[in-house]
Amino acid sequence: MIPSASPSPEGPETPLCSAKGCRAAAVWVLAWNNPKLHTPERRKTWLACDEHREHLSTFLGMRGFLKETVRLQEWEQREG
Ligand SMILES: [Zn+2]
Repeated sequence: MIPSASPSPEGPETPLCSAKGCRAAAVWVLAWNNPKLHTPERRKTWLACDEHREHLSTFLGMRGFLKETVRLQEWEQREG
Protein backbone atom coordinates (compact mmCIF):
# COMPACT_ATOMS: atom_id res chain seq x y z
CA MET A 1 0.00 0.00 0.00
CA ILE A 2 1.48 3.30 -1.06
CA PRO A 3 -0.08 6.42 0.45
CA SER A 4 -0.84 9.10 -2.10
CA ALA A 5 2.06 11.48 -2.37
CA SER A 6 1.52 14.89 -0.93
CA PRO A 7 4.40 17.31 -1.12
CA SER A 8 5.37 18.57 2.32
CA PRO A 9 7.70 21.53 2.77
CA GLU A 10 8.77 20.06 6.10
CA GLY A 11 9.62 16.63 4.80
CA PRO A 12 13.05 15.06 5.20
CA GLU A 13 13.97 16.44 1.79
CA THR A 14 14.13 19.99 3.09
CA PRO A 15 17.84 20.82 3.18
CA LEU A 16 19.00 22.52 6.36
CA CYS A 17 21.95 24.76 7.09
CA SER A 18 25.16 22.86 7.95
CA ALA A 19 26.22 25.32 10.64
CA LYS A 20 26.39 23.77 14.10
CA GLY A 21 23.06 24.01 15.89
CA CYS A 22 21.34 25.86 13.04
CA ARG A 23 17.99 24.50 11.91
CA ALA A 24 17.29 27.12 9.26
CA ALA A 25 16.51 26.11 5.70
CA ALA A 26 19.56 26.21 3.47
CA VAL A 27 19.76 28.88 0.80
CA TRP A 28 23.36 28.44 -0.30
CA VAL A 29 25.60 25.58 -1.33
CA LEU A 30 29.30 25.91 -0.58
CA ALA A 31 31.26 23.59 -2.83
CA TRP A 32 34.69 22.72 -1.49
CA ASN A 33 37.57 20.34 -1.89
CA ASN A 34 40.38 19.30 0.44
CA PRO A 35 43.32 18.51 -1.86
CA LYS A 36 44.86 16.27 0.81
CA LEU A 37 41.80 14.03 0.87
CA HIS A 38 40.00 14.49 -2.41
CA THR A 39 40.82 14.30 -6.08
CA PRO A 40 40.74 17.76 -7.73
CA GLU A 41 37.38 17.31 -9.44
CA ARG A 42 35.66 15.99 -6.31
CA ARG A 43 33.24 18.39 -4.60
CA LYS A 44 32.10 18.24 -1.02
CA THR A 45 29.17 20.46 -0.19
CA TRP A 46 28.03 22.36 2.84
CA LEU A 47 24.65 24.01 3.03
CA ALA A 48 24.16 27.43 4.53
CA CYS A 49 21.34 29.78 5.41
CA ASP A 50 21.75 33.48 4.68
CA GLU A 51 23.05 34.09 8.18
CA HIS A 52 25.81 31.47 8.09
CA ARG A 53 26.96 31.71 4.51
CA GLU A 54 29.73 34.15 5.31
CA HIS A 55 30.88 32.29 8.42
CA LEU A 56 31.12 28.95 6.63
CA SER A 57 32.69 30.34 3.49
CA THR A 58 35.32 32.17 5.57
CA PHE A 59 36.09 28.93 7.38
CA LEU A 60 36.62 27.07 4.10
CA GLY A 61 38.29 30.01 2.39
CA MET A 62 40.96 30.34 5.08
CA ARG A 63 41.97 26.75 4.46
CA GLY A 64 41.94 27.20 0.72
CA PHE A 65 39.18 24.62 0.33
CA LEU A 66 36.35 26.77 -0.99
CA LYS A 67 35.68 26.40 -4.70
CA GLU A 68 32.39 28.20 -5.17
CA THR A 69 29.25 29.46 -3.51
CA VAL A 70 26.04 28.85 -5.40
CA ARG A 71 22.38 29.38 -4.58
CA LEU A 72 20.77 26.06 -3.64
CA GLN A 73 18.15 26.54 -6.34
CA GLU A 74 20.83 26.97 -8.99
CA TRP A 75 22.84 24.04 -7.65
CA GLU A 76 19.85 21.70 -7.87
CA GLN A 77 19.17 22.81 -11.43
CA ARG A 78 22.78 22.03 -12.33
CA GLU A 79 22.57 18.61 -10.75
CA GLY A 80 19.69 17.98 -13.09
ZN1 LIG B 1 22.46 28.69 9.48
